[in-house]
Amino acid sequence: MIDICAQEKKQLSSITAALARIASAIEPVTETERVTLKNALGRVLAEPIYSAINSPFDRNSAMDGYAFSSHNLIPEQSISLTQVGISWAGQPYQGTLQSGQCVRIFTGAVLPAETDSVIMQEQVQVDASSIIFSAQTQGKQHVRAIGEDIKQGDLVCAPFKKITATDLGLLASVGTESLVVKRKVKIAYFSTGNELTALGQALESGKIYDSNRYLLSGLLTDACYQVTDLGVIADDPQQLEDCILAAAKNHDLIMSTGGASVGDADYIKEVLARCGKVDFWKIAIKPGKPLAFGKIHDCHFFGLPGNPVAVVVTFQHIVAPALEQLSGISMSQPLQLLAKCTTALKKSPGRQEYQRGIVSQDNNGELLVASSGQQGSNILSATSAANCYIVLPVECRGIQPGEQVRIELIRSVISSVISH
Ligand code: AMP
Ligand code: MG
Repeated sequence: MIDICAQEKKQLSSITAALARIASAIEPVTETERVTLKNALGRVLAEPIYSAINSPFDRNSAMDGYAFSSHNLIPEQSISLTQVGISWAGQPYQGTLQSGQCVRIFTGAVLPAETDSVIMQEQVQVDASSIIFSAQTQGKQHVRAIGEDIKQGDLVCAPFKKITATDLGLLASVGTESLVVKRKVKIAYFSTGNELTALGQALESGKIYDSNRYLLSGLLTDACYQVTDLGVIADDPQQLEDCILAAAKNHDLIMSTGGASVGDADYIKEVLARCGKVDFWKIAIKPGKPLAFGKIHDCHFFGLPGNPVAVVVTFQHIVAPALEQLSGISMSQPLQLLAKCTTALKKSPGRQEYQRGIVSQDNNGELLVASSGQQGSNILSATSAANCYIVLPVECRGIQPGEQVRIELIRSVISSVISH
């Protein structure tokens, strides 16, 4: 007797193997462009940035208070110094301090050359121009050293880094006006299916609204991507072929959803065989088993499943790493945490499952996770309610309440997309 399950298991490839094959097939874009610092958020740095200056540029104060020389301090005695001037941020004190003198100083103001210490204003007593320092006063405190953040010539940002808001601040602090980044990756996507109805139209029986294009528009919102929405293509081989061949001419990657299984109206496979070289894989993950990956001329192609939850899961775990690599960032592994599962989870062995869950933290800081609801690959509501995936390995046969499970936090983009 033929064991269909065993046969199917043989054909399934692991997600690790699938990612490795994708990684070896993708070359990062090589073209670059120069952008101003303000336009660099989320872009991929193409060249190293070295600092032309020390940051801080001068020795300056970390507090509002008084700058003085520690030579004035006498162990276990209070002292009185005479305030001879003020050092403002942007307007340093111009004079020279003698022994027994101090200056009023504000945060970020340059320390006079003769001083090496700052005391907080709350820790002194002020009597006209006499400033009384207590016996507990410590020297050499609250001074920011020249170059303590970045030294002249230091590497500020390494290439292939996706620029964050903090990087913008850091780069500005060393005077970077513009930088060279990888060009944007050009991505086109479309939905297939005669059942798909545009928003704004009443639904007829048998029809559904097109969730996937809205999902993808949210998932593809990224400064590194230049995205074209090709709309809905009917289950018609000629229309699909025309659309794919035209898009392949001026995009780096095309993504479709639906039409990739083996139903009578699933034409993606036959069309792709005519247009280019695309393999159909069965990946051992749930949801999201069928996936097409290949190339049409120089354009990569991903054929995702039709069910929206499978679209989210395959996008985040398979397409997003590939897009990162195409953009010039090295492929990253999702961070996994351990959590105690508070609900029973059903699971059959054979595929790695990404069940949707809600993670919370108890008073002791322990992570607790519960199923977010029904786990069907069409159940967007439970995915919208989720804030994490519960990752159940291939061999797992279900989870009892109290067992430890691995979770991955869902990037916030998912919930914002689905609630639109
Ligand atoms: P298919 O792979 O085309 O057989 O689609 C599988 C399931 O996903 C079917 O129930 C489709 O109606 C559904 N589906 C396909 N495309 C979409 C879409 N763009 N939005 C929502 N559901 C879809
Ligand atoms: Mg279909």
